[in-house]
Amino acid sequence: MDLFEEKMRAMKEMAPENRMEMVKNLKNRCPCPTCPSYNTCAKEAGETLFCATGKSFMCISEEKSCICPTCPITKEMGLKHKFFCTRGAEKAQRYEHTLWGSTMV
Ligand code: SF4
Ligand code: SF4
Repeated sequence: MDLFEEKMRAMKEMAPENRMEMVKNLKNRCPCPTCPSYNTCAKEAGETLFCATGKSFMCISEEKSCICPTCPITKEMGLKHKFFCTRGAEKAQRYEHTLWGSTMV
């Protein structure tokens, strides 16, 4: 089990209020709003933390660049992927790679 799986398992065991608090904290720390791919639509919709919540809801479609690899949360949560706003959450990208064996980085 890698770090991300351990984190997901630990979160699953948490009381719902503690889990919500943790997600809120991560959301506040997410630096997506400073990324070149982030746009006004996403800002107005209050979208962040795509690594957990998945694709942007009809706001971000153009991949300019992604600052996820340098985000402290990537290291903290053991994330392997990026461009979560356009490609889906870490969990979803892991699942797709399992199915298709994609090497998209
Ligand atoms: S997920 Fe990556 S590409 Fe999308 S806004 Fe955040 S840092 Fe930028
Ligand atoms: S890894 Fe990307 S989506 Fe997740 S908190 Fe960091 S910048 Fe935001």
